Amino acid sequence: MQDSRPTDAAAPDAGAEADAGAGQRDLAAAGIAELRALGERVTPARRAVLRVLAETSEHLCVDDVLARADVIVPGLHRTTVYRAVETLGDLGLVTHVHPDHGPAVYHLDPSLTGSSHLHVRCRRCGEISDVPADLLDGVADRLARQIGFQLQPDHAALTGLCRACAAADPADDPR
Ligand SMILES: [Zn+2]
Ligand SMILES: [Zn+2]
Ligand SMILES: [Zn+2]
Repeated sequence: MQDSRPTDAAAPDAGAEADAGAGQRDLAAAGIAELRALGERVTPARRAVLRVLAETSEHLCVDDVLARADVIVPGLHRTTVYRAVETLGDLGLVTHVHPDHGPAVYHLDPSLTGSSHLHVRCRRCGEISDVPADLLDGVADRLARQIGFQLQPDHAALTGLCRACAAADPADDPR
């Protein structure tokens, strides 16, 4: 299998590139350009992680990122991908959100995508949804004024019930 497949550096996977929209390719390219601008190496794992996150608006945990990165660059070591995600986070190219349950999920950083958002997670079905970035501005202002607390609402998801689950049998006790 690995013998028949060209390496990432020698021959970029033109077929997979064609599947992504131009904007998504640009996002991955912007991330790679930013890596270079920072004087950081553009490794196959870092490139793969940027592409995975550029190609989706889903909320992927690191294992999901690993599974998709492995399609782009088969045979990447698990720890290599984990470290790439961590390093891209440290460099400000990738951001993470903590749901109330389960592992953190990842997006490209708003500095690359040009837009930020907050998250809500349904505690019954586990669905994570994007909500407007300014949703809690009033709350943040009050906290700052009243107790001097600087709220960072983008770091954790808010918890509740989605529309479908809220409409379902209320006797079903959510977790
Ligand atoms: Zn739900
Ligand atoms: Zn999101
Ligand atoms: Zn965190």
